[in-house]
Amino acid sequence: MKKLLFISSLLTYSYSQDNLISDGPYIFIDNGNLIEKEIIDNQVFIKTLKPSQFDTLFYPSKSIYKNVSKIAALSDIHGQYDLFITLLMNNEIIDKNLNWIFGKGHLVINGDIFDRGDQVNETLWFVYKLELQAIKNGGMVHFLLGNHEYMVLYDDLRYVNPKYKLSADLLDLDYDMLYSNKTVLGRWLRSKSTIIKINNVLFTHGGISKEFVSKVGYDIEAINNTMRISIPKLKNLRKLRKSKESNEFYDLYFGSQSLIWYRGFFKNDFTSSELEDVLNLFDAEHIAVGHSTQKKIVQLHENRIFGIDTGIKKGKSGEVLLIEGDRFYGGSINGQLRELNQ
Ligand code: ZN
Repeated sequence: MKKLLFISSLLTYSYSQDNLISDGPYIFIDNGNLIEKEIIDNQVFIKTLKPSQFDTLFYPSKSIYKNVSKIAALSDIHGQYDLFITLLMNNEIIDKNLNWIFGKGHLVINGDIFDRGDQVNETLWFVYKLELQAIKNGGMVHFLLGNHEYMVLYDDLRYVNPKYKLSADLLDLDYDMLYSNKTVLGRWLRSKSTIIKINNVLFTHGGISKEFVSKVGYDIEAINNTMRISIPKLKNLRKLRKSKESNEFYDLYFGSQSLIWYRGFFKNDFTSSELEDVLNLFDAEHIAVGHSTQKKIVQLHENRIFGIDTGIKKGKSGEVLLIEGDRFYGGSINGQLRELNQ
């Protein structure tokens, strides 16, 4: 067991004094057996599940969808489970019993469920279950990986809520091992995409930089595959980067100009013609991105860009982007719609 940093231990300690934590379940895959570990009031409960109870193999979904009748998208949930549920409920994506009522619609979560807040695991399990329900109803849930998913996968734990340091201690594991390739949620995460296109709209966490497309290209399926197969190598790549050895691959796919970190869309010097060039390459009309926090959903460059990180991480409010045909709306926490005008 790795030693926690001194400052993190202090945080963990103060957290544990005031709160008994409950967390999980975490389901570990051990030689074909499923072992469930759950924490209730600081006590760990372990049981063996029937192997049929959860899938252990997850296959990537495709990256491009056409003729989807309605789309909802939101981003940067950061462990704010209650607010996330309220937004989905009041915008008629789920009912009061948390069941899918969005029919054949697609719900996109533009990344960053992990870090900051203290209900990350609850949110992940809810998305996991909603995804299965949506498929049964002819719809889909797309959970795209953001920089904070990749950070946990490559063991950069700077933003993990102190609660989870205590969870990891109680389970006698490092935090990243709670989502390793030997867990159900860890395998599920590793099957996810980073960029998708639905109808004429692209979705990704940060944005698409000129630098990225000029070097990587615009084959969405290939980009997702490259990022998926890189995950096992990421820890080492990060070390190489730390030691300042050149690492073009890491910079391209996981650096500041990558899909998951890029903030250029929101800079003053970003031009419509630069955007036009990028969208044309992907044969898309619009792009919805999270990562750069706004008060409400913003539209930029005549509805070409939608900024959909609406500060859910603060735990107070947020908005859902709703798309039907060529109409775009912001759905509020109370379920009120405002049309996003050009
Ligand atoms: Zn982010």
